[in-house]
Amino acid sequence: MSRAWVDLVYLIAAVLFILGLKGLTHPRTAVRGNLLGAVAMLLAVLVTLFDRQVFGGGVFGYTLIFLGLVIGSAIGVWLSITIRLESMPELVALFNGLGGAASFIVAGAYVTATPSDETSYAVSFATAASGLIGAVTLTGSLVAFAKLAGHPLLKRMPALPHSTVTNAVVGGVTLLLAFVCAISLSYDFWFWLVVIASLGLGYCLTISIGGADMPVVIALLNSYSGLAAAATGFVLQNNVLIIAGALVGASGLILTNVMCKAMNRSLTNVLFGTLGPTGETKDADEVYVNVKATGPDEVAMLLDVARRVVIVPGYGMAVAQAQHAVRDLANFLIAKGIEVEFGIHPVAGRMPGHMNVLLAEADIPYELLKEMDEINTSMEQTDVCLVIGANDTVNPDGRDNPKSAIAGMPIINADKARTCVVIKRSLSPGFAGIPNPLFAADNTLMFFADGKQAVLDILASLKEG
Ligand code: NDP
Repeated sequence: MSRAWVDLVYLIAAVLFILGLKGLTHPRTAVRGNLLGAVAMLLAVLVTLFDRQVFGGGVFGYTLIFLGLVIGSAIGVWLSITIRLESMPELVALFNGLGGAASFIVAGAYVTATPSDETSYAVSFATAASGLIGAVTLTGSLVAFAKLAGHPLLKRMPALPHSTVTNAVVGGVTLLLAFVCAISLSYDFWFWLVVIASLGLGYCLTISIGGADMPVVIALLNSYSGLAAAATGFVLQNNVLIIAGALVGASGLILTNVMCKAMNRSLTNVLFGTLGPTGETKDADEVYVNVKATGPDEVAMLLDVARRVVIVPGYGMAVAQAQHAVRDLANFLIAKGIEVEFGIHPVAGRMPGHMNVLLAEADIPYELLKEMDEINTSMEQTDVCLVIGANDTVNPDGRDNPKSAIAGMPIINADKARTCVVIKRSLSPGFAGIPNPLFAADNTLMFFADGKQAVLDILASLKEG
């Protein structure tokens, strides 16, 4: 086998990565897309080992690689079996962080193993970039993980008093160190200094960002992990790592941009860790003076006479694992001739596309899922809007209250339906931690129950009636 064959296999792996990514753009093709990506990764690993063994300086310890593979696969299988779907964003945050760490550690190993007279400025620039982006990704992702998981450690993480100034100073120092590292060919010492400063920068950039804005940050960190990998690809001069990293980097950036638009935030603010207004939080007692509770029979009666029903799912539907019960309810209503659609907020849940994945898992036809802008145009003609475990994404303060912490965040106008029924267990707040005036609106009824049980009870009541 000549070197050209190695390059050809790299090319095939790169094409498979691209096809895999394309597959991930639609729920129907996503599983196949994932598989293509996995095959591409396997090919890339095998051909790299072969390349090193036959053409390059040999492989350092097959036993170690094998051990890593076994331990890594065991953790992967264990996680995929045990992780609950609603905890997926935390897992994604951790994966991003580990990706960043892997990138700067590999670049660091190269720096340590390569004598300075054998290197070039191109490589030293790439190494500095890998150290900077990889380390920012690691600590940024760990903070994002702690925030999403509501980890007790978060209370011990100090907040920054003047976050904009601090971010600017830490960012400036880190960039300076990275520059020195890049222009110095004997850069072992500088590289690790860049890593240390960047670990601090990752923390600073994410610690001051509020929970409601975390989805944008996760998307950005995902992009960073790809860029770090691409930079390491330049260090190792490995084409497939450059291509795979660039794909992750570019798609993550596109996703960040989509999320910024969906949440009405500016990309510059995300990049510099200054998202969203801090807001004046109204007291819950002040907001919830006029809350009306309901039960399954009343909701069934409302649905029975409705002509058009919109179901708005949120994070609580994922927690309750109510998607199958929701599908049965929707099918029942459709069979009665009622028009049923789902209003999907782009950031509902805890990760982009969270609701689409859940509803697809329950075989709810994709055609029934309508994006926020589309569903909002028909909300006033909707008889019943059934909100299941959504909160911040239907909070009218996003639209009406410029002082709110979610001011400017587009919402699904559930309050504009003739009647709005909200299913959740209590009046406790959503991810943004603020009260929701929708729950006390004149046309809103609150059904306090677990999402799945409530839907099952409504369905049972409909069938009895
Ligand atoms: P929210 O987090 O605003 O609200 C979820 C609601 O679900 C809670 O108020 C909770 O109320 C209810 N709930 C929890 N468990 C159950 C259950 N078993 N049955 C019924 N209800 C339940 O969710 P949204 O989806 O509306 O909004 C998402 C928010 O999260 C946005 O602010 C978004 O910015 C943010 N976010 C989004 C991410 C993304 O990528 N999409 C990532 C991270 C955050 P109760 O406890 O009373 O039942």
